[in-house]
Amino acid sequence: MFLKFSIIMALSSQPNFIEYLFELVQHINGQTTLPQQICLELAKIMKYLNSDLEVIDASDLIQLLSEDADYSFFYQQQDSHELFNMLMKHIEEANNQVNSFDLTMLKSKQMKSKNPFLHHTKVQIKCNSCNQSFNSLKVESNYAFHFQLNYARTIKEAIDYIQKPEIITDYICFYCSLQFLKKKYTLNEQQTLIDSYLSVNSYDEDSFTMIKKIIALLNAIQGNQYQIDPQKACLKRTVTRYTHIAKYPKTFCFFVNRLIVHPNYGLIKLDYPVHLDSTFTVANKQYSFSALVCHLGDSYSGHYVAYKRTFAQDLESSMSQDKSYKKCEWYITSDVKVVLTKQPLQGEAYLIFYDTY
Ligand SMILES: [Zn+2]
Repeated sequence: MFLKFSIIMALSSQPNFIEYLFELVQHINGQTTLPQQICLELAKIMKYLNSDLEVIDASDLIQLLSEDADYSFFYQQQDSHELFNMLMKHIEEANNQVNSFDLTMLKSKQMKSKNPFLHHTKVQIKCNSCNQSFNSLKVESNYAFHFQLNYARTIKEAIDYIQKPEIITDYICFYCSLQFLKKKYTLNEQQTLIDSYLSVNSYDEDSFTMIKKIIALLNAIQGNQYQIDPQKACLKRTVTRYTHIAKYPKTFCFFVNRLIVHPNYGLIKLDYPVHLDSTFTVANKQYSFSALVCHLGDSYSGHYVAYKRTFAQDLESSMSQDKSYKKCEWYITSDVKVVLTKQPLQGEAYLIFYDTY
């Protein structure tokens, strides 16, 4: 089975995602854009996959996706979680389109639910020489997490690794550079200007751009005797990069980096097994294992199988108010075969999904 079908299959067992998608398509009407058409088609398939029908027909969806310039690139790669990100990109675009400010109603059409995969990580960089922290307000939003096989074999280890401090060498420290400028530009007015920049701990622009700007201002001050090339004023230091998951997603998607470029052998596949518990708890929320995509074969050929957990007897009841999810059953789907299975095979995990209710 192709990767694209496995991803769709895995998405069909994420109740939070389906709820979000169904709410989103209710807001789509009139002339539709490409992202909106993709959402409509995906919602149709989700409905279909959660009924008794077993064979998946995703040709219309694939046709729509192929209109995206990036698609043919991913199609050749076949091993990239980029397809998942591409789907999410279209879904978020459709969301932004339907949620845009409605002039006739004079209010913004707000959706109740948010993309359950969306999460935010906060990145902070601290200089090991001057101890100043910078970029403290930088927040990155994303849909899938990387599961680094070289450092993690369980979900907990994967999450810990994401938040592990990282040492970076030769990083321009804005504050060390300012201290250097303070020694060189000695006029009162120049010292005051530098101090004003030293007192703020977050800037939108990169350090080099900021330093270039500040040097231009310092040079322009009347009575200035000193000139320096901005490149030379940028002091490189060893810094520590701290990543903190500021907002956890409702539904986790982990992408396992299995294909790596080896210096002698080219593209190779890491076949280390991962150990997946049926549940895990993070930030006081319990997540349950809900789908898995495995890659069978080597780095050049192979095929994907998807394990999906059924979450309710039928889709309508799962969307109802009381949300009493039925005891789950696991199915393995490979090409057109759908077979009930006891538990998913964990060894060759490639995409891992955990959901919360
Ligand atoms: Zn520093």
